[in-house]
Amino acid sequence: MAKDNLTAILYGINDIRLEQTPIEEPDTNEVLIEMSCVGICGSDVHYLERGRIGDFILREPMIIGHEAAGVVAKLGKNVKHLKVGDRVAIEPGVPCRYCSFCKDGRYNLCKDMVFCATPPVHGNLRRYYKHAADFCFK
Ligand SMILES: [Zn+2]
Ligand SMILES: [Zn+2]
Repeated sequence: MAKDNLTAILYGINDIRLEQTPIEEPDTNEVLIEMSCVGICGSDVHYLERGRIGDFILREPMIIGHEAAGVVAKLGKNVKHLKVGDRVAIEPGVPCRYCSFCKDGRYNLCKDMVFCATPPVHGNLRRYYKHAADFCFK
């Protein structure tokens, strides 16, 4: 597998840099994805120009990007519904799966949502990115 993991990191207002970062190992319920395409969203641009969106403030360098698709490159050991080579769309917000909103199927309202490229969570504008397998869609 390639070693190149060129990554778009936002350091502050109008300070974006392309740097190499380590390729992460997928955890048991994650997949590593070779990214094919990452959109640049208005929110990415907003962080670039303002360094914040409301209460979400860029305090440390953050990898941008959250509207993305790619090809499964490696499986966590519990992942059964995907295989290496599958093309997937990535749902960028991963909820807790345990709260009442999650249990009711309204997981978009989860208070513990972990959302790509929303400080302090890194995004996926890089060559390789790992993500919760159940939030990757063939
Ligand atoms: Zn967006
Ligand atoms: Zn939840």
